[in-house]
Amino acid sequence: MAFKNQHLSYSRLSRFEQCPLSFKLHYIDKRQDEPGVPLRFGKAVHAVLETLLREHMEQEREGALSEERAVALWQEAWAAGELSGLAVFEEGLAILRSYVRRQGHVDHQDVLAIEKRFELEVGPFTVLGFIDRVDRVDDETVEVIDYKTNRLLFSREEVDSSLQMSLYHLAARQLWPWAKRVRLTFDMLRHDLRMTTERDEEQLAAAIAYVETMGRMTEEAREFPARLNANCVYCDHRQDCPAYAAALQGERTVICEDTSDLELVAREREEVARLSKVLYARKQELEDVLKAHLDAHDELVLAGVRYRMFNAASKSYPLDRTLEVLARATGDEREQLVGRLASIDNKAVDGLLKDLAKTLGKDRVNLLKAELEAVVERRFSQRFWAKEVA
Ligand code: SF4
Repeated sequence: MAFKNQHLSYSRLSRFEQCPLSFKLHYIDKRQDEPGVPLRFGKAVHAVLETLLREHMEQEREGALSEERAVALWQEAWAAGELSGLAVFEEGLAILRSYVRRQGHVDHQDVLAIEKRFELEVGPFTVLGFIDRVDRVDDETVEVIDYKTNRLLFSREEVDSSLQMSLYHLAARQLWPWAKRVRLTFDMLRHDLRMTTERDEEQLAAAIAYVETMGRMTEEAREFPARLNANCVYCDHRQDCPAYAAALQGERTVICEDTSDLELVAREREEVARLSKVLYARKQELEDVLKAHLDAHDELVLAGVRYRMFNAASKSYPLDRTLEVLARATGDEREQLVGRLASIDNKAVDGLLKDLAKTLGKDRVNLLKAELEAVVERRFSQRFWAKEVA
């Protein structure tokens, strides 16, 4: 069967997946999109990084990236992206400066590609895309890097199951067939954090089947319902979306007066959960506007409310020095104090095991995991859980 749109992209699929109405407004009705500040900001940061790295490669340089050049490029990208506000400008500058410092020594020969275009044949479709950056790690490994300017970090599950990364893996394997390993990294620029993952054959096969299924769904869909979600506030078609307008006005359709009707309880709970995500994101958007003004003022008093920024402190005690101080004060042995105070965070152990897998190999790490399982201490607390079923 021939489809009208045989060219797919990750953006096209994820738009349909996230909200069919947004897909229709964008790709079928071809409505003029109005990207909000976060989208324009992300685009401007990407443009700077692309040019900065490309120039480094073209000049065949080895050494640090130029911070001065990054600043000049940011000024240009800022104007082109029609951004405004000192706080947003400074935020971009801080991200770029920190990126340049984090890169350290960059050998142009290790950067294999910047904004690399790819095409993948998936069933009757061709998936098109661009990868932000690809590095050669060693003679067997390439690293695909995708820049993100998100405020929220992805969860480990999101990184490990990202469709975007599965597609990038397939593309990297096609473009650099010598690579036996493909490392996939989301560079979370606001957080100075690289979240890395890999894919096995089973995951890649599932991704291909999923893309083909989704591709067919986008072609065959006759209805395009609005799916309110936490990202509506960033949606470039929110101005044309009646569901978003109604959500901002707090319009509700399901009110459960009889709580013995559990079907109705669940329906209202889901409606409220969806609306609260939209309203929470809108609250954040409004707070960002106020915060930008608080850069220039100690406080604002508006609509009978006083707004201020304050420094919230958080504490952590370095292990060795803390034990030393406590041992001196109490006369207790270090081992005694460790037994009483120390435990290792689950995430820290998982991160270490993931790193160790690269040097020790999967089998050795699996044995290690089994050994650790035998000593782990579990605590349980009840949590409410809800997930849509098909
Ligand atoms: S605002 Fe939300 S519900 Fe409306 S089109 Fe955009 S993503 Fe869909």
